Amino acid sequence: MEKISVIIPLYNEAENIVELYRRLKDVLQKDFSIFDYEIIFIDDGSSDAAADMLLDLHYRDTKVKVLQFSRNFGHHLAITAGLDYTNGDYVVMMDGDLQDQPEEIKKLYHKLKEGYDVVYGERVHKKFSLMRRVLSECFNFLIRRFIEDPIVINSTIFRIMTKQVVENIRLLREHNRYIVGIIGWVGFKHVAEPVEHGKRYKGESKYNFSRQIDLALNAIFSFSNYPLKFITRLGLFFVIISFGLGGVIIFKKLIYNTPIIGWSSLIVSVLVIGGLQITILGVIGEYLGRNYMENKNRPLYIVRNYWHD
Ligand code: UDP
Ligand code: MG
Repeated sequence: MEKISVIIPLYNEAENIVELYRRLKDVLQKDFSIFDYEIIFIDDGSSDAAADMLLDLHYRDTKVKVLQFSRNFGHHLAITAGLDYTNGDYVVMMDGDLQDQPEEIKKLYHKLKEGYDVVYGERVHKKFSLMRRVLSECFNFLIRRFIEDPIVINSTIFRIMTKQVVENIRLLREHNRYIVGIIGWVGFKHVAEPVEHGKRYKGESKYNFSRQIDLALNAIFSFSNYPLKFITRLGLFFVIISFGLGGVIIFKKLIYNTPIIGWSSLIVSVLVIGGLQITILGVIGEYLGRNYMENKNRPLYIVRNYWHD
């Protein structure tokens, strides 16, 4: 019997668990009745009642497995752990706030059976704020521009993958993980399928503005060295400009004996160059820091409890 695994990262989502489980269970029993299945919840260091509720579900339903982290490691590491612990022939990953609708899994699966390895949900009616949607469009533009490898990056988590893809994802153990980038990197045949995007059932988004920016920077810096190339080009550009400008000044002085005027031009150029240098150092520092973190070779996450079977 083929097996379908659903992995769901949760961070302080206690108020969504009952509804999520009810809808998901319904779908699995109805649409996937000929399959064996498992639901793996990853409790990413929640401080609410999530752990107790999940444990309760596990005791009532052996298909529910619960992986509890020793602290909060973050959304993408929680998904990584889920992928490490599944053994399904098909693996679905989705968020735990019901924005990804369990009822859409069937669609993803049918698309997969048309001969693909990864089917990701393309949200048709995004239920995010305007600001969030604008930011996400900017990010998508940048990431497409920066990443040179022919890899498919779509920022939605909601997707279904074959076992073979999951086995290959497990081989990539980098710390700074942008999980959908990693899934794109391993290759195979990807395709999008339109899905409804729901409103968060209860609670608030765990991604505030600064976490969103962090995620976007992480995606860019861990998948591209375009920023390094860009600063080299920028440096060259300024060298050319400064030669040109210097030439003009010397020319004026020698030929026309024009005195060099301008405190303003001086201070502007000092500030511009100063600012640029700091930014450039920052970009180099970013790569250096990442290298340092990777070299420590720490485990990606630490499991406190694993309730299964
Ligand atoms: N999440 C997590 N660890 C975190 C932050 C979030 O496991 O540190 C989970 C969260 O519980 C949810 C999913 O990741 O199931 C997506 O988070 P959220 O809905 O807050 O993000 P948004 O939909 O606003 O992007
Ligand atoms: Mg959400």
